[in-house]
Amino acid sequence: MPDSGLYSLNDVRRDLRLPEQHVAMRKIVHVDMDVFYASVEQRDDPTLRGRPVVVAWRGARSVVCAASYEARRYGIRSAMPALRAERLCPEAVFVPPDFARYRSVSEHVRGIFARHTKLIEPLSLDEAYLDVTQNRQGLPSATDVARSIRASIREELSLTASAGIAYNKFLAKIASDWRKPDGLFVIRPERALDFLTPLPVARLPGVGKVMEQKLAALGLTTIGELRNTGREDLIHHFGRSGARLNELANGIDLQPVCSERLTQSISSEDTFERDLSMGELLPKIAELTERVWQLAARESRIARTIVLKLKTSTFRVLTRSETPSHFPTSADELEQIAVALTTRVDLPADTRFRLVGVGISGFVERSWEKQRELDLGSLATHRQPSQGDESGDSLGATTSRSWITDV
Ligand SMILES: [Mg+2]
Repeated sequence: MPDSGLYSLNDVRRDLRLPEQHVAMRKIVHVDMDVFYASVEQRDDPTLRGRPVVVAWRGARSVVCAASYEARRYGIRSAMPALRAERLCPEAVFVPPDFARYRSVSEHVRGIFARHTKLIEPLSLDEAYLDVTQNRQGLPSATDVARSIRASIREELSLTASAGIAYNKFLAKIASDWRKPDGLFVIRPERALDFLTPLPVARLPGVGKVMEQKLAALGLTTIGELRNTGREDLIHHFGRSGARLNELANGIDLQPVCSERLTQSISSEDTFERDLSMGELLPKIAELTERVWQLAARESRIARTIVLKLKTSTFRVLTRSETPSHFPTSADELEQIAVALTTRVDLPADTRFRLVGVGISGFVERSWEKQRELDLGSLATHRQPSQGDESGDSLGATTSRSWITDV
């Protein structure tokens, strides 16, 4: 690969032996509702309009689910501890999240998407990718589809959404953020490389703080610098991730919009600086369940199984799981079950642990769960403990979804 920045998509396609349609022919729209939860709250309660609104539960460990633009002016952001938000803006109005309401708005938005395409990949309640290469209304361009969607959301829901349009998913997502709020931005294939060149590497999907630091150590801070680094060099440093970085820096992302992709599990785990006793794990389990609970609330489906994962100081991995007849209805209930699973760990009392994780899996449609409740009767409480698994690492592949999303 040449090291020059003068490198067209066609060159990239040829070098990577990609069929043309993978590079330039798809039309992808990324739609992202603007500060979704906070906007729904302000829409439904006129007294909240124009005021700094923070959607968060009260509590020492609570984090901000969403902040209105007025609150963001004080530096309040999603996923920030609620106590910190309170300090930043004491006059902020704190509203507890009402996920049932957000979910119903989200379903309406998905109905609007479905008028245009069946290829919809939701990322959360307020974001989705749409492949509109073929669109149901036969609109000539993806931009027309995005305009129509934004207009429908405004007219039918009195809410705003930002849209990004590009020939692949990652560029569409960058584009939707570009004119936020209430914006629309198109990245055309022939402009993609110039557009990416000056952007910081952290704009690329999968480049978090750690990767950003590693790249900075190599003198790579912009996507252009990344592109000018040879593919082989990046593979040398980062293996498969290096190959992916090279493709992204060249504006390539082959991942299709995948309407069947559903969350398989949600989990959160914590590795400690020093090994902890079982007793010391309990507050950690509380933190992790809170996190998992907040993530789970964004799903349209609910999970059936709760999993506890432990890794001892000697690197032995244990998981214990439970499938209660009803999924917990609060973070506290989830925590109780996770804590109860620790009693099924039969290890010497002086065992120390280097990691604990909490996860949920076995997602089912809510309607299915309702039916099941009816079948079982509301008082059914029997549990179906599963066999523990000594070697499996079922939570090892933590879902890549971030719980910091509503921005
Ligand atoms: Mg959003």
